[in-house]
Amino acid sequence: MRAARFIRVRGVVQGVGFRPFVYRLAHTNALAGWVLNGDQGVEMFLEGAEPDLENFVRDLKLNAPPAASIAEIEVAAAQPLGLKEFKIRESQRRDQPTVRVSPDLPVCDECLTELLDSGDRRYLYPYINCTNCGPRYTVILGLPYDRPNTTMRQWPLDDYCNSEYHNPANRRFHAQPVACPACGPKYYLQANGEVKCNGEEAVRQAAALLQAGKVVAVKGLGGYHLACDARNPQAVSALRERKYRKEKPFALMVKDLASARSLVDLSAEGETLVTSVARPIVLATAKVELDGVAPGNAELGIMLAYTPLHHLLFAGGAPDILVMTSANRSSEPIAYEDEDALQSLAGIADAFLMGERPIARRVDDSVARVGTFGPAILRRARGYAPGAVAKLPSERPLLAVGADLKNTITLVVGGQAFVSQHIGDLDHYQAFRAFEETICDLVSMYEVRWDELFVVHDLHPQYASTIHALGLPGTQKVAVQHHRAHLASVLAEHDEWEKRVVGVSFDGTGYGDDGTIWGGEIFTGNVRNGFERVAHLRSAVLPGGDAAAQFPVQAAAGFLSQVDQLPDLAAAPFAFPVRYRQALELVHKQVRTFATTSVGRLFDSAAALLGFTREITFEGQAAMWLEQLARTASSTEPYPFPFAGEELDFRPLLFSVAQDRLRGRGRNEIARAFQRGLATGLSDCVKEISRANGINTIVLSGGVFQNELLLEDLKSLLEPAHLQVWTNHAVPANDGGISLGQAALAAFGQYHRSAETAAAVTPVKSYA
Ligand SMILES: [Zn+2]
Ligand SMILES: [Zn+2]
Repeated sequence: MRAARFIRVRGVVQGVGFRPFVYRLAHTNALAGWVLNGDQGVEMFLEGAEPDLENFVRDLKLNAPPAASIAEIEVAAAQPLGLKEFKIRESQRRDQPTVRVSPDLPVCDECLTELLDSGDRRYLYPYINCTNCGPRYTVILGLPYDRPNTTMRQWPLDDYCNSEYHNPANRRFHAQPVACPACGPKYYLQANGEVKCNGEEAVRQAAALLQAGKVVAVKGLGGYHLACDARNPQAVSALRERKYRKEKPFALMVKDLASARSLVDLSAEGETLVTSVARPIVLATAKVELDGVAPGNAELGIMLAYTPLHHLLFAGGAPDILVMTSANRSSEPIAYEDEDALQSLAGIADAFLMGERPIARRVDDSVARVGTFGPAILRRARGYAPGAVAKLPSERPLLAVGADLKNTITLVVGGQAFVSQHIGDLDHYQAFRAFEETICDLVSMYEVRWDELFVVHDLHPQYASTIHALGLPGTQKVAVQHHRAHLASVLAEHDEWEKRVVGVSFDGTGYGDDGTIWGGEIFTGNVRNGFERVAHLRSAVLPGGDAAAQFPVQAAAGFLSQVDQLPDLAAAPFAFPVRYRQALELVHKQVRTFATTSVGRLFDSAAALLGFTREITFEGQAAMWLEQLARTASSTEPYPFPFAGEELDFRPLLFSVAQDRLRGRGRNEIARAFQRGLATGLSDCVKEISRANGINTIVLSGGVFQNELLLEDLKSLLEPAHLQVWTNHAVPANDGGISLGQAALAAFGQYHRSAETAAAVTPVKSYA
């Protein structure tokens, strides 16, 4: 008796060797039928003996290719058609392409072996790849994922590649970006406006330049890197100077796990993360000192070589620890187009190692760490984007445009929430352009009609993202409050809409319901019915508005003006610069001052009292500095941070910091007591609210919760009280997670109408 099945598999199943896998599995089980990449996933029809069909379905689940990620398998009985063989069919185009696009994959072991085998056709060929590895999102121009829809379309396959491409038993069967030295794109080295050499020689000379202390721009998967020898302080400082990057740490690349272990302390979880298919930059405690790489920072960011070219560079004699930083000036987005890279990096790079394959879109390296509550992503891009991170009950396509800092966007199609790669800070013109491009890119890739789009933006009326959203053609536009979006991002990741939680949303800045600058907010509620603000940091003022985020002493003036009996902060040991006194004058005259509950600025104030009195050179720097300082002290008594009414009172906390500093207590111990005080006060407050409301789940989100010492303290205080703590894992706790939270709340109707946003007053941003 013949039987048949129709099967549809959803998830990351295109571009990861899924159809060849199905083909081989059908042969193994003597089944006839077909498989194709449909717009809804991989679809297949199989007929044969019942037990063989059952084996097939079982193995389909158990033995899927390593890079595939199956979200759902639908199996339906079907009528046998009397087919005699199994075929891979051409892709079909139907409705909306909600198939998940695979993120880019690192070179696989088999390709790596061939790459370094002198007898192989692709010996030393940097574009080697197969169905298990290679570029995906960064070469895809449209869906479905087939070669004519990739940036490889201009290189017709030669007979050799063609025969592999069409042989179902081959690893390159339907590998869309397949190429060999005879038919594929090439690499070359360019300097001073002319091509110096090609192929192997280009890689060798680039390696030699790196050895000689030069800065080389290297074209990668989603953009250019700037590389130099991490052990050469002159090279590193030259790179900093030319890139206008004063202190922000540089990422490092090494060739393998053994080299990574020699540089940083990697736990088992850390090793899993650094070798995962996303190959992120992983932050971990440094074991070595590398001058200028991460000044004043106890951690290093390490990634493993992930493209064939990276491996060729190391094999070709490049220094074994390379600085590999996004190629851009200062905070601009990563350069990814050749002409733009040549122009914008002239004067930074001594030479360019360039490849002919175009990059479809810019995708930066991702950054992650092993967090207190599990893996934490700080920047979500290559290797993760544009994977779906949640399923939302939204029939209509929905576009959430995120916040202005660390922007990402989320597009919900067919209920799946696709979060874009990290875009950046929209204050920068180039990043804003990238934001506009990414919106168009995702909307067109998923074939969403603009006129049916439900658009969600931040409540801030002057965010560039808000203004842009209001100008888009979508029919309905709504606003979601920033700190509620942070909380919803965690719950969306957990696929939890009903559960009532106590949500702590701590960050640097976000537009509050009342038009003031929020950043220390505590809510109760759930996604379905929304969140009610029940407590917050005591309100302080911010002299000069958002500009105060640049100068810890300026923020300190706003907070310390409420603290009585302070010592003279212009004198030793504080030695606050004159900016402090000027800011205090603004506070006293109530000129250009804005109310705030920002915990980020509270950290800045404490950092200022402990000696961080200069301008910061990257966002979050003063708080990171304080955390590092605190880590060098052992546990100590917390400073008081009392909760009364609806307020967490920062005054005793800052007063204690100032007093102890004046008395000459070690700065690391003061920093530790400050952090412990913050955690203790917060946990007392959260316990009280959860008791009063019969809630046992606490959600922590917002940029402040990138502070792992704070999370460790909270874990030690909350878990013994039988409170379960949820944090972000799939999207960042910082503003990179906002777009997902916006999408989730909007999908449940928890939003403000945009008209209310436009009418809201108290402009904050324009005074920066
Ligand atoms: Zn491979
Ligand atoms: Zn070829």
